[in-house]
Amino acid sequence: MRPSWKLPRPESSAGRTRTSPALWVGLLGLLLGVGLLVHFSARPRWIQIQESRILMGTQVDVLVRAKDRRAAERGLRQCFKEMERIQKLMDVHQPESQLSQLNRWAGDFWVAPHRDILYVIQRSLETSRLTEGAFDVTMGPLIALWREARKAGVPPSQDSVRHALGHVGYSFLEVDTRGGRIRFRRKGMSLDLGGIAKGFALDRAAAALREEGIEQALLNAGGDVVALGGKGDRPWTIGIRDPRDPKGLMGTLKVRGMAVMTSGDYERFFLHQGRRYHHILDPRTGYPARGCISVTVVGPDATRADALATAAFVLGPRRGLALLEMVAGIEGIVVDEEERTFISSGLKGKVDWMGRWKKAVQ
Ligand code: ADP
Ligand code: MG
Repeated sequence: MRPSWKLPRPESSAGRTRTSPALWVGLLGLLLGVGLLVHFSARPRWIQIQESRILMGTQVDVLVRAKDRRAAERGLRQCFKEMERIQKLMDVHQPESQLSQLNRWAGDFWVAPHRDILYVIQRSLETSRLTEGAFDVTMGPLIALWREARKAGVPPSQDSVRHALGHVGYSFLEVDTRGGRIRFRRKGMSLDLGGIAKGFALDRAAAALREEGIEQALLNAGGDVVALGGKGDRPWTIGIRDPRDPKGLMGTLKVRGMAVMTSGDYERFFLHQGRRYHHILDPRTGYPARGCISVTVVGPDATRADALATAAFVLGPRRGLALLEMVAGIEGIVVDEEERTFISSGLKGKVDWMGRWKKAVQ
């Protein structure tokens, strides 16, 4: 008998459908898994890099979030370069800075400073006019006098304060905007940009990051903060220093794309016979401003926020808060000498207070 080779009977379609669902599901799952894997490994992930340097008399931390590591590193480099450049221009503590040279040589004749110095002077004068001179960058002679006093730990004599005040007054600082020139209309004048230059440096540093395509970053210069964008989809959380506990916070604030600048009596001060002598001076008296211990200003522009924080501090709690209420787009927190806290209307309910500061809000 011839062996008969039987071809295997084709499986009935009914049989096939009975065995395939599990197989199909498995196959689909596998495909989906591979698809997702390819999708996510191809999509660049967010990275975070941070760098800290000592600049402008404080520690400056910059945290950058980006998808492109190279761009983030380039951004960090450029942003520190920019802050170093501005410090070199505007630091009165460096004899070689352009500001120090200007102070040595300028007088009742026109001189053309670097355009960044000119810009900061113009912004300063805006704030001087707005605050009837509470903010005044012509306080150089008085600030220098108090700097020496701080080193000695003894306040200067009334006579020397009066003498220094004689060389102060923003109305004697003349600016020719078109010509890009300035002149000192009084003898012995000198400029100190310490109340505004840090804000300007932070604004420019943030601009340098933006130029490198960075949209999310946090720049912190010793508690003065500029937030570029948010942290992913959420805002950045910013700590506000406790004015009586340098390591602690009085609260936190959530911001996106804003500057948060603080002026406090705790930064640079000395104690003499139980009295605190700090570095924010009242141009009306020539002495450290009384009434506030801390002012925090929130606004879109760090240059302005920095100047307004110093100005509001000098004006005192009531007028200082009124100033912050008055200026459009600006909010703030004022702490008075009794450690009571006042906040502008736009910030109500937006600060997470810590510890005893919960009860200090008025
Ligand atoms: P910080 O530099 O500690 O953040 P501020 O922004 O308030 O604090 O700046 C204080 C500095 O501003 C002082 O060290 C001094 O250089 C300068 N300054 C002090 N008083 C005034 C004032 N009334 N107007 C303008 N600048 C001031
Ligand atoms: Mg300031």
